[in-house]
Amino acid sequence: MTAPVKEKTTFKPTHYQQLVNGQWEDARSGKRFTRTSPFDGSPVATYPDSGVADAEAAIVAARHAFDATSWPTRPAAERAGILLRAAKLLRDSADEFTDSIAREVGKPMWMSDREAPAAAAGFESAARLAVEAHGDAITQQTPTALGLTIKEPIGVVGVITPWNYPLILVARKVGTALAAGCTVVCKPSHYSSGAALLMARVLAEAGLPAGALNVVTSSEDEGALVGQYISFSDKVDMVTFTGSTDSGKAVMRAAANNVKRVALELGGKSPNVIFADADLEAAAEGAIAGVFNNSGQICQAGSRLLVQKGVKDEVVQRVVRLMGALTLGDPLDPKTKLGPLVNERQLKRVERYLSEGKKEANLVVGGGRPTDHALANGHFIEPTLFDEVDPASSIAREEIFGPVLSVIEFDSAADAVRIGNDTIFGLAAAVWTKNIDTAINVAKGLRAGSLWVNCYHGAGISGQPFGGYKQSGLGR
Ligand code: NAD
Repeated sequence: MTAPVKEKTTFKPTHYQQLVNGQWEDARSGKRFTRTSPFDGSPVATYPDSGVADAEAAIVAARHAFDATSWPTRPAAERAGILLRAAKLLRDSADEFTDSIAREVGKPMWMSDREAPAAAAGFESAARLAVEAHGDAITQQTPTALGLTIKEPIGVVGVITPWNYPLILVARKVGTALAAGCTVVCKPSHYSSGAALLMARVLAEAGLPAGALNVVTSSEDEGALVGQYISFSDKVDMVTFTGSTDSGKAVMRAAANNVKRVALELGGKSPNVIFADADLEAAAEGAIAGVFNNSGQICQAGSRLLVQKGVKDEVVQRVVRLMGALTLGDPLDPKTKLGPLVNERQLKRVERYLSEGKKEANLVVGGGRPTDHALANGHFIEPTLFDEVDPASSIAREEIFGPVLSVIEFDSAADAVRIGNDTIFGLAAAVWTKNIDTAINVAKGLRAGSLWVNCYHGAGISGQPFGGYKQSGLGR
C-alpha cells in the first residue's frame, strides 16, 4: 500500500517565530519573508527576517548561557539525557519534519523521510560522546609530577547551514556542540528554515534550558549579513559552516577577527571511478544514486563518472536505461523519484552548465526542462548525461549541484587518479573493481575525505569522520 498524496487544498503556510533566549519572537525590525514551494510557487511558510540586531541578541543569550548558567558544567549524563529525549521526540514527530522538508526543499518523500531518523541517530551518538569523552593522565615521565589533560567545551558555537539537508546538517552540528556543553547560535538557510525551528522546539520540550540554543531566520540578503556577523563576533568562539566554497572562504576571513575556530564543509566535484573488471550493473546503479539523488543537490554527488576504456559505452548504456526510471514529480507524491531544484537561482545555474555542456561534450540524454505541463511551474531539470567530456571543461571541473552526470574515459589506474584529483575539490570518491590491489591503490591515490569501494554514499555506514581535502573543507 502506498501513502496517499498530501491534500494541497487544506494546506496553510506555517507562520514561524525565531528562538532567542528561550523566547519565541518576531524579528526586531518586524519584517518577515515568505518561502515558496519549488514545485508550484505557492507559499509554504513565513519567517521573521532577522537582522544583525537579532543575531546580536542571540549571541548575547548564548554567551550568557555559557558564562553564567550551569549548562557547561552540568553532569554530562544530564546533557545526554536531554539529547536522548529529543531523539525520541524527533522520531515521534518525524512526519512533521518530512512534510516541512518536502515542501520547502522539494526533496521527494522517500528522501525527506530519512532526515528525522538520521537526526535522531545523530543526537543519540552525540549523547554517547557526552558521557564517554574523557581526558588523559600522563603518569610515567617523572617520579614526582602528574600531567592531566581534560576535555572542555569551546564556548559559544555559531552554526550556519545550507538548505539541502535542512535537518540532518543542523542536528549533527547542534547535537555535538550541546553534548560538549557549548551553547549555540544557529542560522539555517532561508530556503529551508522550518526544520531547524522544529528541531529547536523538540529540544526545548526535551528540557534544554533557555539560551543554550538560539535560532535566527533571515532572508537571502539578511542571511549573508547575519552569517558574516556571527562569523566575525568576538563573543563567538567557534563557527561550524556548511555551504558553498565561496561563502566558506568569507566565513573563514571573518573568523580571523578573533581567531575563532572554524569547521568548514564545502563543495565538491566527486569522481566515481569504474574499472572494466567491476560488476557493471551494480556500478551503473551506484552512478545513478551517486549523482541523481536529491536531483544532484548533494555535496558528495558523484558528478564525474570516470569509466575505463573498453567498457565505457556499455556503462553509458546501462546508466541511460536506469535513468528512464527516474520519475520527476510532486515531492509530496510517494511515487516521485526526483523533485524540482530548490530555487530559480539554482535552475538558472544548472541551465547555464547545460548550455556549456552542449558545446563541450556529447549530450546523450536530458539537457533541458521537461515538457510535461504538470511540471511547468516547478524548477525542474531532466536528468542529464554528457559523454566524451573533456576533463578540462567546466562541466568536468565545476560544481553544478544539479542532476547532471559527466562521463570521462580513462586508460589506466594512474590515469584515473590523475583525472580524479584534477579539480579544486576533494570531498568524496568511489572506486568500482573486483581487484583488491586496484581498489586500495586508487583509493589511496584519490584525495577525498570520504572514499567508497563498490558502493556510493557509503552503503548505510554511519559514524565515520566527514570532511574534505583541498577547497572542500577544513576539519572532520
Ligand atoms: P551558501 O553558501 O549559499 O549558503 C549556506 C549558508 O551560508 C546559508 O545559511 C547562507 O545564508 C549563509 N551565507 C551565505 N553567504 C554567507 C557569507 N558571506 N558569510 C556567512 N554566511 C553566509 O550555500 P547553499 O546554496 O545554501 O548550499 C549549497 C552548497 O553547500 C553547495 O556548494 C554544496 O556542495 C555545499 N554543501 C556542502 C556540504 C558538505 O558537507 N561538504 C553539505 C551540504 C552542502
